[in-house]
Amino acid sequence: MQSHRGSTIAFDCPSDLANILDRAAGGQDATLFMVLFAAFNCLLQRYTGQDDLLVGTPIANRNRPEVEGIIGFFANTLVLRTDLGGAKSFADVVRRVRDVCLEAYDNQDIPFEQIVEELQPTRDLSRTPLFQTMFVYQEALDRPTNMGDVAVERFEFATTVSRTDLYVWIQRTPAGLRGFFEYNTDLFDAATVRRMMHHYQVILRGVCENVDADLGELPLLSSAEHDQLVTGWNNTRIETPACCIHELFERQVIAHRNKVAVRCGDQAVTYGELDCRSNQVARHLQALGVGSEQLIGVSINRSIDMMVAVLGVLKAGAAYVPLDPAYPDARVEFMVRDSGLTIVLTEEVLRGRFSTSTTNIICLDSDWPAIVKQASGPLGLSQESGCLAYVIYTSGSTGTPKGVEVQHDSVVNFLESMRREPGVDEHDVLFAVTTLSFDISVLELFLPLIAGAQVVIGARHVIEDGAELANAILQAGVTVMQATPATWRMLLGADWQPQSRIKALCGGESLPMDLAGQLLQRVGVLWNMYGPTETTIWSTCQIITNPDDIAIGRPIANTNAYVLDRQLRPVPLGVTGELYIGGAGVARGYRGRPELTEERFIVDPFVNDGGSRMYRTGDLARRNPSGSIDCLGRVDHQVKIRGHRIELGEVEFALATHPVVRQCVALVRGIRPGDARLIAYVVHSANQTATAAEMRKHLRATLPDFMIPQHFVVLAEFPLTDNGKVDRKKLPAPFAATAAPAEHAEPETETERRLAIIWQEILGVHGVGRHANFFELGGHSLLSMGVIG
Ligand code: AMP
Repeated sequence: MQSHRGSTIAFDCPSDLANILDRAAGGQDATLFMVLFAAFNCLLQRYTGQDDLLVGTPIANRNRPEVEGIIGFFANTLVLRTDLGGAKSFADVVRRVRDVCLEAYDNQDIPFEQIVEELQPTRDLSRTPLFQTMFVYQEALDRPTNMGDVAVERFEFATTVSRTDLYVWIQRTPAGLRGFFEYNTDLFDAATVRRMMHHYQVILRGVCENVDADLGELPLLSSAEHDQLVTGWNNTRIETPACCIHELFERQVIAHRNKVAVRCGDQAVTYGELDCRSNQVARHLQALGVGSEQLIGVSINRSIDMMVAVLGVLKAGAAYVPLDPAYPDARVEFMVRDSGLTIVLTEEVLRGRFSTSTTNIICLDSDWPAIVKQASGPLGLSQESGCLAYVIYTSGSTGTPKGVEVQHDSVVNFLESMRREPGVDEHDVLFAVTTLSFDISVLELFLPLIAGAQVVIGARHVIEDGAELANAILQAGVTVMQATPATWRMLLGADWQPQSRIKALCGGESLPMDLAGQLLQRVGVLWNMYGPTETTIWSTCQIITNPDDIAIGRPIANTNAYVLDRQLRPVPLGVTGELYIGGAGVARGYRGRPELTEERFIVDPFVNDGGSRMYRTGDLARRNPSGSIDCLGRVDHQVKIRGHRIELGEVEFALATHPVVRQCVALVRGIRPGDARLIAYVVHSANQTATAAEMRKHLRATLPDFMIPQHFVVLAEFPLTDNGKVDRKKLPAPFAATAAPAEHAEPETETERRLAIIWQEILGVHGVGRHANFFELGGHSLLSMGVIG
């Protein structure tokens, strides 16, 4: 709603600068207005990241001698539409602006109202049509100082209105130029506008220095601002030991040999026992010739053995590749092949999943009699901290997952940073709920073990059931827990009772306000954790005290976070850009994918050592005046569903391999807080159809459960945008499409009727019949908790 509440702030530009600008205008065959307006367009381009800019300007419209003497209102508003796309230099922008202005002046007597009427733009009460920003220049030097007996004097007064979102006017004064930024106070606060005004002046000064300057080199930030953004807020340096992850653990073994290190269900091991067992596994691997940088698969259900296996691999000098037992065979086979695994550590029940012809299978349970024969003392292996620690696969947009290679030194830096903040010490008990194939499990498994604390590994049936999980947390005396928003919601859905001694870490996707509010009422401390797998687990974090203020915070130790524009220049405070992360956490790259690695991991231009790289996250972000960062969504088609990272392209690729699918699009729609659904839109080949169940079955062969769409919507054809792409915004909501009419049968008994109503409410669908399938209607394990509730 436009309230037109506003305020105005003024600035001055000294006459020497004004004179230079004047001369620059002359040199370009342009007016001073055109130069000032070109600079304003540059400001808007840098603030919005857009090239096509529409700005309004009033015009006196007295271009005929006959009307000059007439008293009355002739003024009109012109819409100046400048396209800055591909402009090389500022002079280039001035030329474009000049052409736009001259053309607009030629048509100045066509009323603005008539243009709006002709164009019929979609009306939106929240904004004025066609433009929301105005720019005006007034040659006010030759104003009369008296009119008859009346002396005329100009004075400024405070206004409380704003005609548009932003209204900038500049006038010539004897002292140079005086400019005003009138702004809507519902949209901007004074500090923001002051910064914007300051940036406008920086641009003007840059123009004065060199009007032919490359547009990319036209300054926007003062050097103090630049330094604050690039180094000031990245001042995160701490000393961290140059060692491997397991060496941090071994230091704790000396201090806490008889203390319980890991629990799972009714089993427990002490630091000493865990160390001995993992040493034996390491020696067993070494006996097979395993050495530095070799990759070993780990596919073990959640248990103490899983921990022993991972530690054993690291101690052998090798790196582990988690192979989630819940993944489909084809995906596991792909990962085994892609990472060139020749050895997999697993357990007897999973043995059959691996081909013995290419891989050496070691079962920690059935092969234990052989492993236990190995010596259990320290291995005495000295290993470089720059060696690989793990390779974790994440969804890939081109159809296959990609393995992220992470080194020991990155993880050691991460763990040391986390030990300090959010903080863990030997009195803590951490409850681990995350699958090994999601990198945040590294925090759960190792942070307690490098701090002399205890980790309780939640078994699969516990972590998937809110009530069991709530009970297990209580029984274990937990003080720290990390989970994605979905798991926290599951706990809350199971009526989890407040536990003020718990430090809650929430991350993996954006922390919704309502969830933060509920958690703040139940836990002692709440942290928002942010980071991609490619920069080692978490890269920024923020303590949350107010659910209205959910930032991802500041970088962790030895980490740089930059918010940059397309030309890799820092954007000002409060302006949206893409988040780049540099420093100790930056992974080595994607296994066997040099081009992709080169595209996403680029030279860090702000560290002058020639070798440092930064990772392009694909996350939109902005820096707050306090230095903390807000995460604002994605620049691409990567999504999160219940904490799992999914490239929609990978789902589309898999679905397109179904013989009947001619075209498909996958997207995510939020149904309500905490319930985002993956939806597949499909166009079938002529005269052929496949049911949702058939398409789902096809996908199950290659994709893990969380990547299977909950809804399939078959369309005759896709709505297209003007340039022929699928118009994702126009795809219909999926929820009308329930069971095919032939299969529909009304609920009959009272219980069926009541269940149908509950399902409809929880799933947001209608027409639930007797044969409806909860999962095919979009249900999943977390929603089933709602039904039980
Ligand atoms: P992953 O590699 O699976 O850890 O996914 C990393 C991506 O998850 C990031 O690039 C973000 O898009 C998203 N993400 C992770 N944590 C957060 C958070 N706390 N707030 C917003 N987005 C997040």
